[in-house]
Amino acid sequence: MTLVTAALIVLAVVGSNAFQFWDPAEEFPQLNTYFDNNYIGQSFETLQEKHPDLVKISSLGKTPGDNDIHEITITSDVSNWQTANKPSVKYVANMHGNEVRGRGLLLKFAYYLAMSYESDQDVRDIMATTVFHLLPTINPDGFATATKSCSGVDGRYTSDGTDMNRDFPSSWQSGTRLKFANETKMLMNYATRVPAVLGISFHDGALVTNYPWDGVPDILSGKYAASPDDALFITMAKTYSLNHKSMSKRAAQCGQDDFKDGITNGNKWYKVFNGMQDWNYMYNDCFEVTIELGCCKYPSDAADTFGKVWSDNFNSILKFSKLANSGVKGRATDYFGNPLTDVTITVSGINKTTKVRHPEGYYWRPLLGGTYNISASKHGYYTLARKSIVVREEEPTQIDFILIPKSQVRARKRRRRRKRSV
Ligand SMILES: [Zn+2]
Repeated sequence: MTLVTAALIVLAVVGSNAFQFWDPAEEFPQLNTYFDNNYIGQSFETLQEKHPDLVKISSLGKTPGDNDIHEITITSDVSNWQTANKPSVKYVANMHGNEVRGRGLLLKFAYYLAMSYESDQDVRDIMATTVFHLLPTINPDGFATATKSCSGVDGRYTSDGTDMNRDFPSSWQSGTRLKFANETKMLMNYATRVPAVLGISFHDGALVTNYPWDGVPDILSGKYAASPDDALFITMAKTYSLNHKSMSKRAAQCGQDDFKDGITNGNKWYKVFNGMQDWNYMYNDCFEVTIELGCCKYPSDAADTFGKVWSDNFNSILKFSKLANSGVKGRATDYFGNPLTDVTITVSGINKTTKVRHPEGYYWRPLLGGTYNISASKHGYYTLARKSIVVREEEPTQIDFILIPKSQVRARKRRRRRKRSV
């Protein structure tokens, strides 16, 4: 290998992770102010008009306060995102209406992806392999009544007084009477329509990345409650916190907090039942973390806040997004190549199955590097097991499953028996 070739390889490896930093607020100063819900809708419309090939906007519906919950889908060739062979990621913010940093972060992130697409090869690469769904506020009614304050609960709840992060179903809490606020119901319907592999819910009031479980009945608050994917969640959480400018540093954390590496297990921090992240992992196979972006929930100076939140989190959010394409991925079909959904993917050593939810039969199962036995099963079909699958950290391993229906084999045996008897 010549020196030049070696240098090019080094450059290629370094370059593959080198997203170009650009603060969209330099061009759109409004992004550094406390914009209202209408501004989110208008700016999404503007992005869609400018980049119809990359951006598709929607509303989850109207809240009781007559606000839309705005959603933006961003990916290359966006008109075909639902059938494309790409995992979806879902990032939401402002579930507690008085925790505001995520609003600006996600709005800027939408601008960043759409507007640097042409100039930044790394953005083009991630948009070719990932579908981004961004919801800067899922509680616009709460935000509309929130007051600038570092603590307190003014604006935390939905207009009917619900704490959304205590309002999602849990198999451990089946007897609990939840309110299911309109906003919660919209999020639940949305999760069925848009199955996401990864999720983030942005909050404020601390500086830490929090991962499941958030609340297990038999484990006391303050004690560690490991999920079946604990090691993977730790890696995911660290991918965010260690790429953040200060989250992992004790001095930047809030009050007496001392989160090693800037991460915490939810139940170990404090127990939360019926939270969204546990629900997303448990019911939707969406590997979701909760990210607390700052100590003060609703700071008085918007420009300071939104300027810093972008530079602090820019790298984390891009690195985290890449995890949607890790572990194993592939397609489940029948013998004729027809896509199969509702196929259960089981991984040896992990007591958590995931389902094939993509209408074209594609699936993504994030995993740490290692060797696994992986099987696919579906009612009415023979289970197909693949042994000793090697998964590397750098790129996902492709494993396709062609499932044979039991009825087909039974019919063939019947035909054979009939032939023999004539
Ligand atoms: Zn919160």
